[in-house]
Amino acid sequence: MTKQELKAKVLQAIDRRRDEIIALGEQIRLNPELGYKEHKTAALVEKTYEALGLKHTRGLAITGSKAEIPGAEQRVRIAVMGELDAVVCPEHPDADPETGAAHSCGHNAQVAAMLGVGMGLIDANVMPHLAGDVVLMAVPAEEPVEIEWRQRMREMGKISFLGGKQELIKLGALDDIDMTIMFHSTSTAPGRHAVVGGTANGFIAKFIRYRGKEAHAGGAPHLGINALNAAILGLQGIHANRETFKDEDTIRIHPIITKGGDLVNIIPADVRMETYVRGRTMPAILDASRKVNRALRAGALAVGAEVDIIEIPGFLPRVNNPDMSEIFRKNVAELVGAENVATGGHGTGSSDIGDVMHIMPAIHPYVGGAAGAGHTKDYTVADPELFYIVPAKAMAMTIIDLLADGAEEALNIKRNYPPLLTKEEYLRQWEEFCSAEA
Ligand SMILES: [Zn+2]
Ligand SMILES: [Zn+2]
Repeated sequence: MTKQELKAKVLQAIDRRRDEIIALGEQIRLNPELGYKEHKTAALVEKTYEALGLKHTRGLAITGSKAEIPGAEQRVRIAVMGELDAVVCPEHPDADPETGAAHSCGHNAQVAAMLGVGMGLIDANVMPHLAGDVVLMAVPAEEPVEIEWRQRMREMGKISFLGGKQELIKLGALDDIDMTIMFHSTSTAPGRHAVVGGTANGFIAKFIRYRGKEAHAGGAPHLGINALNAAILGLQGIHANRETFKDEDTIRIHPIITKGGDLVNIIPADVRMETYVRGRTMPAILDASRKVNRALRAGALAVGAEVDIIEIPGFLPRVNNPDMSEIFRKNVAELVGAENVATGGHGTGSSDIGDVMHIMPAIHPYVGGAAGAGHTKDYTVADPELFYIVPAKAMAMTIIDLLADGAEEALNIKRNYPPLLTKEEYLRQWEEFCSAEA
């Protein structure tokens, strides 16, 4: 059977499951959960694997899972990833009333489409024509949030990284994977129903704690040391460094104060902050990170407070594999029209797929279907077909291109793009970045 015939069969199979795929995505959207806590979403994914008769492993990096769809031969193994987590967006109309979590980053589309890929490949019975395995992977915690909570989890030895994919790398869950395909949703714009290729910032994360001295805020403030004032001076110091960042390094630093004091009539003695230091390259990130630490210390020094700065691995910058991107581009163009497919530039957000991209060929294109800005209360599903179904089809078509004809395309890509880092180098690098003398 030709690639075109295989693709046609899979597209029909996905169309037959259209309502089911959309219903899965909507069920996840209405049950948003934060990273490393996605228990309901994980259970739904596992139930769907079972319904598809797939052998799977669960509990990877707490809520992650992995299901195998074997090919006729085992020449290459391709992972299709879907992220399980939501962000905090309490103003969102569909936010969880208790946690404030909402799917305003659209990860529910990734999980539904990942399962849709599995349904299409299995129902159309194309795997006997493919020379490699497909592995569906539900991955926890893409959003590197709740840093203080995750830092406690790190100290307890429950996780080592903010990001679920990084954790899966460390645990060896990607040791048997040769390449990875995923996508991210985006708001549809004219000419941008899909955006393929491009690069994006990496970052380093920090948890910061200023320690001052309590005193009665009215009666005896002269006896205290105001940790909030120290933190505010630290923030001002960061701002004073912004003019030293080069435009081409696309540095982004956006600290928040997560605890500003205990009671209004007590001089704040415990003030906590979280921040990322993002940039285009690791040297640029590390340079900006040293300046941030210097500024944070200056705030403490000014009022005689103490500051603890805990460096936590962020994500590596993103580098899409060019050949895989081209294959995806052709396929998504067949579905939405070439005039609606744009080429990605440099994005200043970050994702832990950047880490995966350093140890194997991988792609992270964008597909539309949403409306409203990501991470805000306005983010909605505007076009369920484009949001859930088109990405499932484009990923399944890409898999057929990679694995048909003896997996020739996939093997070429493996040959042409040796990994930038081995897993061991990757793990060592993050240790070095986060233990560097600030
Ligand atoms: Zn996000
Ligand atoms: Zn996202």
